[in-house]
Amino acid sequence: MRFDLISIFPEFFGGPLGHGIVRRAREAGLIHVHVQDLREFTKDRHRSVDDRPFGGGEGMVLKPEPLFEAVESLLGRSVGDAEKQSTLDRDQAVVLMSAAGKLFDQEMARRYAELERIILICGRYEGVDERVAEHLASEEVSIGDFVLSGGELPAMLVVDAVTRLLPGALGNEASSQNESFSEFQAGAPKYSLPKARPAAPSQRETGKARNTANSPSRGQVRALLDFPHYTRPANYRGWSVPETLISGNHAEVSKWRRQKALEKTRRNRPELLLGGELQP
Ligand code: SAH
Repeated sequence: MRFDLISIFPEFFGGPLGHGIVRRAREAGLIHVHVQDLREFTKDRHRSVDDRPFGGGEGMVLKPEPLFEAVESLLGRSVGDAEKQSTLDRDQAVVLMSAAGKLFDQEMARRYAELERIILICGRYEGVDERVAEHLASEEVSIGDFVLSGGELPAMLVVDAVTRLLPGALGNEASSQNESFSEFQAGAPKYSLPKARPAAPSQRETGKARNTANSPSRGQVRALLDFPHYTRPANYRGWSVPETLISGNHAEVSKWRRQKALEKTRRNRPELLLGGELQP
């Protein structure tokens, strides 16, 4: 899979691309990441990428020309104009990082992981000329309800989340199927939580696609967060690891993990639990 990062700060990515799973995925040839300096597509002496906003107001706006030309150069073809706009291949995406975009989540990461190539455009200043969102980008994506000073961190975050979903990127194949949000399977039915039991078997423990509980008043679960993890020492400063985890009883451990995952979801992300009886 190929990622292209278009930015006015190409050096920005050295750290995040050079560590951990993303680094290993690059070295193994699972992903290829190309960082494109936007200023290479400027023509004036000052290499300017921004200009003042029409209509007045604060700050500067990234101009459309360098961005269109950068993307066209990467794609090796024209994206057209108002008269005739060309469409992207189905296995490619041009993503504009934007606080005003659609929220990025695990489901979106999964969809991206199916693509061959993603070009990520990093905004700066007050943002990017809207024609980029409308006619160049295939999607406009936000990483959360807050405003950052640039699109570089958001783009890197997308690269990271997508890379770790690629087969072979994680040492243990199972690990990306068994973590927070792993129940957000594109198109999969939501699984149900029986009312009588506070802890629904999650996909993590059952290994099955969905729980087939048949209680008519059951609640619905969209996703569970990960369960708490512990490692040695068993006692640290007087705080000890839950007994169940050192009991060696696998069934009990599973039950405990289910229950803790549910408790944590209820506490930190109650909106992920859709059943009335599960609301805090
Ligand atoms: N004026 C804009 C914010 C511009 S911040 C607004 O109010 O929506 C400058 C750049 O940072 C943006 O163009 C975008 O590329 C990036 N950015 C800031 N917050 C972001 C977020 N939550 N998600 C994705 N990109 C973001």
